[in-house]
Amino acid sequence: MTIKENLEHVRRNIAASASKAGKNPKDIILVMATKTVETERIREAIHAGGHIIGENKVQEALKKYEVLKGEGAEWHFIGHLQTNKVKDVLKFADMIHSVDRLSLVEKLDQRLQQEGRSLDILVQVNTSHEESKYGVAPEEAIPLIKQTAKYDTLKILGLMTIGLFTKDEVKIRKCFKVLKEIHDTLIKEAIDRVQMKYLSMGMSGDYQIAIEEGANMVRIGTAIFGARNTPDAYYWPSEKTDADRG
Ligand SMILES: *Cc1c(COP(=O)(O)O)cnc(C)c1O
Repeated sequence: MTIKENLEHVRRNIAASASKAGKNPKDIILVMATKTVETERIREAIHAGGHIIGENKVQEALKKYEVLKGEGAEWHFIGHLQTNKVKDVLKFADMIHSVDRLSLVEKLDQRLQQEGRSLDILVQVNTSHEESKYGVAPEEAIPLIKQTAKYDTLKILGLMTIGLFTKDEVKIRKCFKVLKEIHDTLIKEAIDRVQMKYLSMGMSGDYQIAIEEGANMVRIGTAIFGARNTPDAYYWPSEKTDADRG
């Protein structure tokens, strides 16, 4: 299967799940997760109609951005963000999905103030409670968002999560329900400067479940580009260091 065929297949599945969830397929945004994918294959995907790129590592993303910036794609950062990479991530990112702690918020704000601009962000929540995954704990999500809302360089547009890696659909669904619940609570609380426009959840293995549970932004890699050679442990370290926590 070509990238184009894979993209079409994914889009058909998205449309089917959207209909099932009573949503317009056009309202589901596809972010192509492009970690480890070479630039020419990403270009192929852009030409096949994928217009949002999601990258996990700042240096890898910057290299690809330099080559592909003329293609007019939108660039999202979806990986764990270390505070010492803030300056570089701002060179390419139109949106960051993985804001998960106040130290990072402060750093982003500092840099954005220097640049005199604002940035679209999502807050990442660790709904699976796996130690190996980043994200703020569900019970700490709303307090973090209230704090973050005080920084007017940051436009909070929604939430992101990674579902539990399991074949147990009930457990996966539960992660997405937790995120949707926080999203709904935030809408009710109507916090100044907090918009709940995007619910970024769902990957190759679980995007249809995610859409059924309310996702309107899915991040898909393998189903478009095929299996990766680099183990995901490289992108999702199993041990968090203090430096990572920033
Ligand atoms: C790799 C990755 C994805 C996509 O994963 P696939 O299973 O290949 O679709 C989505 N979100 C994040 C944060 C990722 O790192």
